[in-house]
Amino acid sequence: MRIQVDQDKCCGSGMCVLAAPDVFDQREEDGIVELLDAKPPQTLWPDIREAAAGCPSWAIEVDET
Ligand code: SF4
Repeated sequence: MRIQVDQDKCCGSGMCVLAAPDVFDQREEDGIVELLDAKPPQTLWPDIREAAAGCPSWAIEVDET
């Protein structure tokens, strides 16, 4: 699994950080998403799918190939 985030789309809701805090964080200054791990271990994949599905801005792209 590979993950990309689009900081231009992100509205800083923080939903992804709640779902997968080992993979996503938010910038201190404006709350925009920061990707901590672009190739996370398989144990985190369910949380990441939940984060991507729950993002209100469709700013998280997950490639499962
Ligand atoms: S859930 Fe989406 S909009 Fe909210 S902080 Fe994460 S990437 Fe940004």
